[in-house]
Order: sequence, then C-alpha cells, then structure tokens
Amino acid sequence: MSSNFISRLAPTPSGYLHFGNAFNFLLTYLLVNFHDGVLHLRIDDLDGPRVERTSVEDIFIQLEWLGIDYHFGPSGPDDLYSRFSQQLRKDRYFNAIEVLQKAGHLFACECSRSKIRKSSTSTIYPGICRNKNLNFLKDNQTWRVIVPEKTFVCYRTLTNNKNYIDLTTGIGDFVIRRRDGLPAYQIASLMDDIELGVNLIVRGSDLITSTGAQLFLAKCLNDSFFPAAHFVHHMLMKNESGKKLSKSSGDHSLKFLRNKFNRPTIVYQQSAEILDLPFEDIQTLQDLIEVFRTEMIQKNHLMGLDD
Ligand SMILES: [Zn+2]
Repeated sequence: MSSNFISRLAPTPSGYLHFGNAFNFLLTYLLVNFHDGVLHLRIDDLDGPRVERTSVEDIFIQLEWLGIDYHFGPSGPDDLYSRFSQQLRKDRYFNAIEVLQKAGHLFACECSRSKIRKSSTSTIYPGICRNKNLNFLKDNQTWRVIVPEKTFVCYRTLTNNKNYIDLTTGIGDFVIRRRDGLPAYQIASLMDDIELGVNLIVRGSDLITSTGAQLFLAKCLNDSFFPAAHFVHHMLMKNESGKKLSKSSGDHSLKFLRNKFNRPTIVYQQSAEILDLPFEDIQTLQDLIEVFRTEMIQKNHLMGLDD
C-alpha cells in the first residue's frame, strides 16, 4: 500500500485548538500511517506578534494528548522559534514574491478594506487597482495576484480523480503581500510545502479556494512538483448552532475536553463516527488505526475523502 505520501499537520497558533483541528490531525495521521508515509509538523506562525506562546504550547500539549507522533518538525516551542519558525524563512517567501512580480503576475493595490467593502458586495476584489500600474511599494499597499477571467485550476484527489476550482469567482485577485508587509499565507504555505516535499494535503473544505490559489501560484512559479500533490478537503466541524468551530477556549476546545475527559477516547470515537467507521469499541488511538485500516482495505477509500 506504500505510495510515499509526505504530509503535514499545519496548525496556526491563534488560540486554543478545537475538535475540528483534532479531526484534521487524526485524519492526516491515519492516512499517512496507512500508506506508510512521512508526517511533518509545520506550525504556521508567520503572523508574528499576534502569535502567543500559549497558543504554540497548546499545539504540543494537544498533539501529545492525542498521541499523534510526527517524523519531522519542532519538538516544542523553543525548538520552533530557533529552527522551524516561518519567521526564519521570510526571505524565501519574499524571493518567490519577487519572481512573481518580475514575471508580471502581480499588481499593487492601495485600496483600504473599507473601500473594497463599499465597492463590492462579494468578498472578491473588484479589480479597482488592477490596471492602474501603481509602483510597487513596501508600505501601505497590498500586492495582489492577477487571476484572469475564467481561470480554472485542477487538483488531484486522494484516489487520483481530478476536480476543478473556479478561481476567478472563488477567490479573485488574492493578496500575496499584506499591507503590514508580511508575505500572505498562500505563498508561505506553498513554499513550505514544496520545500518539505509535501504531496498529500488534508485540509478543511473552507480552504478549497486556498488550494486553488496555491496551485495557481505554483504554475506561475513554473513549479511542477506541487500540482502533482493529492488533496483531501474534509467537512468542517460545527457547533450546536451550526457555526464553524473557532479557536476559543470554549467547550469544543481540546484544552476543555482534556480537562474533562482525561483520555481522548471521545475525540477518537467522534472522528471515527464522522468518517462513517464503527466507533463504539474504539478506546485508544491504536483501536482507531485498526478500524481505519480495516475499512480502507475493504472499501479502498472512505466516504467523503475524495472531494
Ligand atoms: Zn486596489
């Protein structure tokens, strides 16, 4: 069953991890484990000052609680800051942005958020600065990627099917360099994935447009590696009122569950249930691995993993 999958857990330290994060981690872990692949931990801490140490610590605490082991990545907060932080790799992101700029894929945008909101009812940038040919400045501008009309991007699913994303209506001219001067998530994530050799990306369905944006950037950068990756976009976990879970310390946070239940059995069972696996007898991570393995061998793939 070996397919040399290389994947990553890529949490953002912006609060306390919740059940949705745990599900994403477990599903990634199960797929990598089943395929005898390699798993990285990559913490998306580009957001600098807004990243709090408690959020970083929470990631390591909850991964340990869940029993999720990874092959490569930081062993704790200090190791993150000294060797793995995205803060240490900013030059690589800026280099890629420069390549894109020189190749004519970008434009400078001076619109404020409120201006964009006022001139468009959708979340898609309405193209105000696209043809202004503003000089590229490092302050008080965002730099955007030109997404031409009718841009469709194709990605590979877990089982090698091809799905298409309409990037023009899905995300439009997206930001690659933020107003605060930082590289945007799209380029940082892409450059890291290429560098780590990631070829299996498991993420929530809310990030499907990011998949499209990153594949588009890879094409603009003449990268042939990333477009060959497999993508799994899984369903999002909702709270009782149907809202997407957020990184608060509320009762869906892993911190809360850990205090309440001591062992993560409930997280394993609920994750299995979402994957339509028999969950009642699952007590340990090993049980979950076995159930997942049996089902994958019998059915070859699971419900909902091929979107
Ligand atoms: Zn603009």
